[in-house]
Amino acid sequence: MTIDPVLGDLAPEQVRVRFPPSPTGNLHIGNVRSALYNWVFARHHGGTFVLRIEDTDAERNLAESYRNIYDSLSWLGLEWDEGPEKGGDYGPYLQSERSELHADVAAKLLAAGLAYKCFDTPAELEARQQDLPKGTPRGYDGIHRNLTAEQVAEFEAQGKPYVIRLKMPESGAIAFNDLVRGEVSFDAAHQQDYVIVRANGKPLYTLVNPVDDVLMGITHVLRGEDLLPSTPRQIVLYQALAEIGVGSGRIPIFGHLPTVLGEGNKRLSKRDQGGGLAEYQDQGYLPEGLLNYLALLGWGIADDRDVFTIKEMVQAFDIRKVNASPARFDPKKCAAINAEHIRMLTVVDLSERLVAFLGAAGVIGAPATPAERELIARVTPLVHERINTLSDAVPMIDFLFTADDKIIIADDAGLKPDSVPVLDATIEALTGLADFDHASIEAALRAALIDGLGLKPRHAFGPVRAAITGKRISPPLFESLELLGQDSALARLTAARSGLGEV
Ligand code: GLU
Repeated sequence: MTIDPVLGDLAPEQVRVRFPPSPTGNLHIGNVRSALYNWVFARHHGGTFVLRIEDTDAERNLAESYRNIYDSLSWLGLEWDEGPEKGGDYGPYLQSERSELHADVAAKLLAAGLAYKCFDTPAELEARQQDLPKGTPRGYDGIHRNLTAEQVAEFEAQGKPYVIRLKMPESGAIAFNDLVRGEVSFDAAHQQDYVIVRANGKPLYTLVNPVDDVLMGITHVLRGEDLLPSTPRQIVLYQALAEIGVGSGRIPIFGHLPTVLGEGNKRLSKRDQGGGLAEYQDQGYLPEGLLNYLALLGWGIADDRDVFTIKEMVQAFDIRKVNASPARFDPKKCAAINAEHIRMLTVVDLSERLVAFLGAAGVIGAPATPAERELIARVTPLVHERINTLSDAVPMIDFLFTADDKIIIADDAGLKPDSVPVLDATIEALTGLADFDHASIEAALRAALIDGLGLKPRHAFGPVRAAITGKRISPPLFESLELLGQDSALARLTAARSGLGEV
């Protein structure tokens, strides 16, 4: 039997991956990339995508962050198969509800001699370290690793607090085969016995993350390269768990995804501009556009092809083709990829997305009135080729949803005292117009302004545009006039004309 390099002895549908965010606010864009790769990996193999919330660090958890994670994943279309609000056979999926399981595992590790109580206080450790020669690693020196049962009993009788540390191997290599990086090896001598339970009895991330991976039957751990330094410790813990019969004994296969770099070659942080998911939602990115761009941060479908659908990604995805070197986040490229996905939408689809986005942005009602919906449906073809994100549509079309007497003409809109004759002629031409469709409007205005006044198109139509939209740039003018309707158009032209006074 040949062993598949990605699946090992697993059948594809046995694949179980997890996305384990901590509820600490807006999702970070690097985390979203991890969620995407895990989801795609699960879908590619027909396996299971588990959502687990790592919320044992109670002080940092914000109630709305839980909701934010669920809503964000749903918005992205990265539906989880098991997890909060879904359930599943391996719950609970909030880590904070699993403390009994964690305490039980810690007790078993102690009983098996794979972990030990360490009574050293930070002050005692520091005092010992003061005399060490410069350059000696400052980690825990393992003094309490070999306490006798009597010494432990004595400390306990004194009521001395203790942390629990996992015993790391003292020599040799801790090695594993990473699906992205190939063979990775750490020198065990550089690994200190690390704390898995705090002095207050609370288990740490270092314990609960690998324990839950094992208890939830996770087969593949695909996560950011920033976590690589903790992987040797996790592997030793997985091995310890196998030894004491926690979980199936299977050690998950790792794939460490490349770091996402922001400005100045630094890891993109969620505090950086462009580092949090909410920004992209606010700007009106399409989930499929953003996901396409995030997919490119470490993977490609083909050398000459940047634009693809998630369905295509699911089909083609091969974790071994993920690039190990850091990926730079390029906001311009992200916007350009999103623009491509906007062009790929049908007019009806884009129109529906604009209705939702403009409703949330307060440009139209939420829910929209039938009249607002109709107007959006009619203006959508006019902006379809002109926007990179949904928010780009706002300044282009908000004139349609602004009351006539609330139009403010921008200083740079190009309306000047010498625009008076243009506006007068426009008002005259449009007042009697029987059919107010864009072709009739265009014919009437060309006759009045170009032929009649002898103006160049820019000088002729700029002031008209400024009067009805307040801006220098708008969707095509004649269509805009048609959408606005004759009464509103004339009211705005008249107001702009009187704003310029007598000439
Ligand atoms: N809660 C951890 C984080 O958000 C999970 C790390 C992991 O994927 O193992 O960084």
